[in-house]
Amino acid sequence: MYRLAGHASSPFGALIGELTLERLPFYRRKDMILYTDTPDRGCMGYLAVITAAEPEDRFHLPHMLGNVSPEAASKLKQGDILSVSGTGEAAVLWDQGSRQNSLLLTEACNCRCLMCPQPPRRHDPALPAAALRVLDLLKGKRVESICITGGEPALPKEDFIGILRRCAGEHPNAEVNVLTNAKPFSDASFAGEAALAAPKKAVFCASLHSDLPQVHDAVVGKPGSYDLTNEGVYNLAVRRVPLEIRHVIVRRNHDRLLEFARHLYRYFPFCAHYAFMSMETCGLAAENLDEIYVEPNDYRDGLRAAVLAMSKRGLPVSVYNTPLCLCHEDIRPFARRSISAWKNVYLEQCGRCAAKASCCGFFSTSVKLSGQIEPLAAA
Ligand code: SF4
Ligand code: SF4
Repeated sequence: MYRLAGHASSPFGALIGELTLERLPFYRRKDMILYTDTPDRGCMGYLAVITAAEPEDRFHLPHMLGNVSPEAASKLKQGDILSVSGTGEAAVLWDQGSRQNSLLLTEACNCRCLMCPQPPRRHDPALPAAALRVLDLLKGKRVESICITGGEPALPKEDFIGILRRCAGEHPNAEVNVLTNAKPFSDASFAGEAALAAPKKAVFCASLHSDLPQVHDAVVGKPGSYDLTNEGVYNLAVRRVPLEIRHVIVRRNHDRLLEFARHLYRYFPFCAHYAFMSMETCGLAAENLDEIYVEPNDYRDGLRAAVLAMSKRGLPVSVYNTPLCLCHEDIRPFARRSISAWKNVYLEQCGRCAAKASCCGFFSTSVKLSGQIEPLAAA
């Protein structure tokens, strides 16, 4: 999530609105946040104002976030949906024009993965409320894709089902990805509710990190998770919910990628898609770095074997978050530009690489980037 810092005109609670860079007629201002260099009387009626100027606390002016760096503000776009708060922060909740927007339903989780980029926290009901407000502001607009995420987004059950229903009703043609550990769907009746509420183009992306229960449970930090995730996936599958299996590669599972691919073929051949993912090393991943980090070059051969084995069997497979130069040439067509634009960076050597335009690069949020990259020559 892209964030900006500044100084608030006064303490005020979070306000969520749509950004405009142009002044609008008074009757269109109620839900709009204006970005302006000149926070004058003409700002009346907007939900809030963001400015590089000094913030003003006047009764006739909206709440204001001032002293924002013009460079940070230059990344904002007309139509972005922002949250602005009196703590002096603004965050882009919906990036207009991006296909990688998420609705964050909770930061609570029923796992504690060694490589979780976003350490689980106590549930804050303000998060599903913010997601609903974003959906209010998106009503009637063209939305191509929505990612529903957490924590574990299905933990606040009612909110989760409500959001699925709203996505289905208001954006019936959007691709909706639900990022889940699938444990909540081990409850068959809840899986049934989710299946009924799910938009027609929804895919539930379930994380499974090993074919061995003890390895999966050690990676996700909760005994019994392997069985619950398996049950959840099967409960969704029998209700015809499209599924993806996501496998994050860490030190504990990196040497069994081919075995894992065979396991998928044997026990989960019904999924719509499968993804092998390199890690984003922030959050718990940064804290546990010594325990979990593995260089992509150390699993390069295993990744190749797994991807080719699955592809030969007709299973649609992708590689996420892994630079092209760290993949064998014959699996590069499976590697995707999977990193969200706002946190996607390249290293200095990448400037000399012929494949940069199709390479995922790196997470700017990672504390550890592979030092083993090698610019590729033009084919
Ligand atoms: S990685 Fe996902 S499943 Fe694991 S603790 Fe974090 S939010 Fe939960
Ligand atoms: S050198 Fe950089 S741009 Fe080229 S493949 Fe490697 S990581 Fe990607």
